[in-house]
Amino acid sequence: MQFKPYWIETRTAFAGARQGDLPAKASVVVIGGGFTGLSAARTLAMQGVDTVLLEAGQVAGGASGRSGGHCNNGTAADLLGLANRLGAEEARRYYAMFDDAVDFVESTVREEQIDCDFVRNGKIKLAVKPSHVEAMKRGADYLAREVEPDLVFLEGDALQSEVRSDAFHAGMVMPRSAQMHVGRYGTGLADAAARHGAAIFEHTPVTRLKRLSGSRYEVGTARGSIVAEAVLVCTGPSLQGPFGWLRRRTVPMGSFVIATEPLTDEQIAASMPGRRNCVTSAHVGNYFRLTADNRVIFGGRARFALSNPSSDAKAGEILRQGLTEVFPALAEVPIAYTWGGVLDMTQDRLPRAGEHDGLFYVTGLSGHGVQFSGYIGDRMARLIGGQADANPLAGKRFSAIPGHLGPPWFLPFVGVWYRYLDWRS
Ligand SMILES: Cc1cc2nc3c(=O)[nH]c(=O)nc-3n(C[C@H](O)[C@H](O)[C@H](O)COP(=O)(O)OP(=O)(O)OC[C@H]3O[C@@H](n4cnc5c(N)ncnc54)[C@H](O)[C@@H]3O)c2cc1C
Repeated sequence: MQFKPYWIETRTAFAGARQGDLPAKASVVVIGGGFTGLSAARTLAMQGVDTVLLEAGQVAGGASGRSGGHCNNGTAADLLGLANRLGAEEARRYYAMFDDAVDFVESTVREEQIDCDFVRNGKIKLAVKPSHVEAMKRGADYLAREVEPDLVFLEGDALQSEVRSDAFHAGMVMPRSAQMHVGRYGTGLADAAARHGAAIFEHTPVTRLKRLSGSRYEVGTARGSIVAEAVLVCTGPSLQGPFGWLRRRTVPMGSFVIATEPLTDEQIAASMPGRRNCVTSAHVGNYFRLTADNRVIFGGRARFALSNPSSDAKAGEILRQGLTEVFPALAEVPIAYTWGGVLDMTQDRLPRAGEHDGLFYVTGLSGHGVQFSGYIGDRMARLIGGQADANPLAGKRFSAIPGHLGPPWFLPFVGVWYRYLDWRS
């Protein structure tokens, strides 16, 4: 078993990274080479903008290449709850954005001919307790009425024909969701951005930012600095670098994943014959799916800690037990890969994008970023390119989280609270 992300281990490496000295200036510097930054760099380069992307590690080596690979439509927060908070129209607007985001990934994959097994296989949300079924039914009725006319609610044999497990009591299928190999999507996006003219530098963490005037910044790294007319920060949970303003507004949250060896046809029939993206109704829940080569990717918030080798190993063991509880038929299937990653979560689990002190930023994609990243990166690139109404998240309130100065000291308490909510539900 390897403690490495399956997606990164099984992708073709990105060969288009620039070597040598950084340029002294650029029209736009994009910081962070996850899906958000890569998508922004691609759009900027396609508009003919002189663009440099600086990535601390390797492209799509952070959350993007470590995710579960669910490219789901729908918001992270449930729509009914969102409508109660924001009003029905605003909730519908957010929902439509996530639909557009899945469409954006699909069209990018097609336009750039990215070989990443993109498929519209649908998502199924599964009720883990009998007491969750009624709320799920109410939510399903609301979704079907407002935004998901093709939603299917499943119980009994119909549910078993999708997911063969006694762990679930009902499910609802959202057919527009998709999945893909996120490692190959990441290098495909990087190849596309480079092909269109963006200069991508890997292993180049940004360590300093100095505002010169307006949106003009000097961007400092150990390899030298660049004067940019505009800077777009797409650093996800931004654990390193001069991004304190963002760090006080988002919580870095560990999430962990295991990948099995490929299943046989009989094992697929005994576990996930529907081949959907599966997510559970618990606060401390799981997400799972099959890959194109028939492995199970099984993830979850197994621990309320950041990802590191010891955390990943402990989480991997918890996830292995979870997989066996859900699918006893897979108890003997070996685990081939275990890994963890860190995602950036806002307090209300809604993404943010905007401008602060002349710096453009995208942050807080909150576990729903595989699809939203490409779309919002593209929109921010258009904004910087001069399309004033391009940012669909413009003007959203974004306050610092009280008591949060950077390191997430409160994560274990959040874990206790979520586990209590699951126990009580
Ligand atoms: C384990 C896990 C499972 C997930 N599963 C799913 C899923 O199935 N579906 C879904 O929709 N979402 C999922 N997510 C969330 C999703 O992966 C993210 O929301 C999305 O990838 C965020 O993309 P990004 O480009 O904004 O950030 P990232 O992918 O985190 O990219 C940010 C990049 O910025 C770089 N960086 C940071 N600091 C600096 C600096 N100072 N200088 C230069 N570069 C810097 C980092 O190295 C990183 O490469 C998951 C996340 C994790 C961790």
